[in-house]
Amino acid sequence: MNHTIAIDLGGTIIKIGLLINGDLVDRKEIVAQSTFGLKSQLPELERVVDQLLASNQVQKESILGIGFSFAGLVDSVENRILSTNQKYDDGPDTDLVGWALEKWNWPLFAMNDARMALLGEWQHGSGQRCADLVMVTLGTGIGSAVLIGGELLIGKHFQAGNLGGHFVVNHHGTVCTCGNIGCVEAEASTWRLPSLLKEHPEFDQSSIKNEEVLDFKALFHHAGNNDRVAKDVLDYCLSAWAAGIITMIHAFDPEMIILSGGIMKSSEVILPALQEKVNQLAWTPWGKVKLVEAKFPDSAALYGADYLVRTAMNSKKITT
Ligand SMILES: [Zn+2]
Repeated sequence: MNHTIAIDLGGTIIKIGLLINGDLVDRKEIVAQSTFGLKSQLPELERVVDQLLASNQVQKESILGIGFSFAGLVDSVENRILSTNQKYDDGPDTDLVGWALEKWNWPLFAMNDARMALLGEWQHGSGQRCADLVMVTLGTGIGSAVLIGGELLIGKHFQAGNLGGHFVVNHHGTVCTCGNIGCVEAEASTWRLPSLLKEHPEFDQSSIKNEEVLDFKALFHHAGNNDRVAKDVLDYCLSAWAAGIITMIHAFDPEMIILSGGIMKSSEVILPALQEKVNQLAWTPWGKVKLVEAKFPDSAALYGADYLVRTAMNSKKITT
């Protein structure tokens, strides 16, 4: 019996999966209402989980537990949320373990979403047969997680390796949502992009200014059509991401960097550009760090959540 439920609580979409022996056999998605908090989402999560069990004819007694992936800092010993950043702000006051026990009598294992995605890519995806990995997610924010010698890097306060998006790449830069100045995320992420474009002195003469939504899809499109402003801003973003990634390489000494997140939909532009900068600028006398695309950008965290539950429950069986 190796059935698990995996929940990936993103800022805009919540993914819920049923896994059997490591295979994702069914999944559902719901639109997240992250500004209304976490507690208000729980009834909907219960409904979808129950629906998954019923439609796959799985008894609740067959489930080993829930793996809960969360976009914030998470205490993965007590399985509780420690800190959020403008999403699900009541997370730290929400007793997830108590919720899963009371509703289904299942244990719940919580972890930061970048760590979950890293576990998923390590076990099933681009990071297989590699014990030293850094995962970077480029999206609304920028997330990261680190595996060293086959062990997740956790740290004293559960934040080691998670704050790669908040490495400073411009100490005269923009104020970040975290309170610091010039973080990678504050210099080049989806939330920063519109102001970055509008600050360009030639924005009013650019073709991208006619776009209703100033997002990375528009940026790649207009840069591809030789719009000068879009090209300048894209170059700036690539430099900021490369600077963050090179610092991660210097800090964590990985063999490989796995890149994921919404912005990676344009991986054909991003990957070669970042690989070139890394090859040129990182201090790695042993060779070159390989940059690769995630194999499961959409479901790595669900695979990771399943792996976490199965590993935790199997080690419990051994020690008790
Ligand atoms: Zn920051």
